[in-house]
Amino acid sequence: MPQAIIHLDLDAFFCSVECLKNPDLKGIPIVVGGSPDKRGVVAAASYPARKFGIRSAMPMARAVQLCPDLVIVPHHFGLYKTYSRVVMGLLKKTAPVFRQNSIDEALMDFTDRIEAWEDIIPVGKRLQRTIRNDIGLPASLGIGPSRIVAKIASDFEKPNGFTVVPPGEEEAFLGALAVSKIPGIGPRTAERLAMLNIRTVYELRQKSEMELTRSFGKLGHAMWLWARGRDSGSLNPDRGLKSASRERTFATDINNGARLETVLSELCVTISKQLQKKNLVAGTVSIKLRDSRFNTRTRQMKLNPPRNEVEVLERAVLKLFREHWEPGEPLRLIGAGCGRLQELPEQLGLGF
Ligand SMILES: [Mg+2]
Repeated sequence: MPQAIIHLDLDAFFCSVECLKNPDLKGIPIVVGGSPDKRGVVAAASYPARKFGIRSAMPMARAVQLCPDLVIVPHHFGLYKTYSRVVMGLLKKTAPVFRQNSIDEALMDFTDRIEAWEDIIPVGKRLQRTIRNDIGLPASLGIGPSRIVAKIASDFEKPNGFTVVPPGEEEAFLGALAVSKIPGIGPRTAERLAMLNIRTVYELRQKSEMELTRSFGKLGHAMWLWARGRDSGSLNPDRGLKSASRERTFATDINNGARLETVLSELCVTISKQLQKKNLVAGTVSIKLRDSRFNTRTRQMKLNPPRNEVEVLERAVLKLFREHWEPGEPLRLIGAGCGRLQELPEQLGLGF
């Protein structure tokens, strides 16, 4: 099943908290930030203020020019942190895999929790409703089959947005968007792409992986993936996978060394494939031996540098086996495993 990811972004978070504290501020243009005569800047702007073109990081003096009736509220960071903790606590409790990206943004992976991909939709609806009704804050949600699509979807129709991009519709959803909507593409990269006549994600997708890699190196490879709605790298390897192991129990005990080694080799093939699929390398390799009286022992060794190739894993596993198995000793279970998993260093993350 494709991944089921929710990206949640609280709408105009600081301003929304201020409105909770003082409902008179609801629906009017407000900003949180320093005063205009002290060279303050806008830390956050409410949606009514954004209608005047006010944005965060804008000098306050300029914001007041754009909207003379603007209400400027001094910040209460302690309060924002408290509300953030309440929201994030709820998300953490709900999602099997959770990652907070900033004070008001989080990613959740529900893949392992649902039967069919569509089951994620009512989960998201419920979260949005609970945050609005019980905590009092508006949030926008994006749901998609990858982190990047979910993130872009959450930004698609703020505030109170709820955008679902089902598997298979990533390319159609992204196609019309400006390349700058992709979080990994900053203004400078967008400019360089524009010089190549690439302005939309659709146009980006027309370039081959080789062309993009030639012009942009690793970023080019990442952009090629992003244009297809796929994540580069894996910030959340195997949804929390810290180790990978496989074992086999025998119907009758086996004391034949060659047969036991064959089984170990097979287990290594499976583990290696799993690691390579997730772009992970292992820092340790281990074996597990259980004898006919159910005594179990495990032994492990380091792999330095971390690796994932089947030959490397197999060599290490067989070395451990030959060191720790008594020739002729009957075994009822044998296992191989990899630990200290980490991302391949070459992989370029999205930074979220
Ligand atoms: Mg936000």
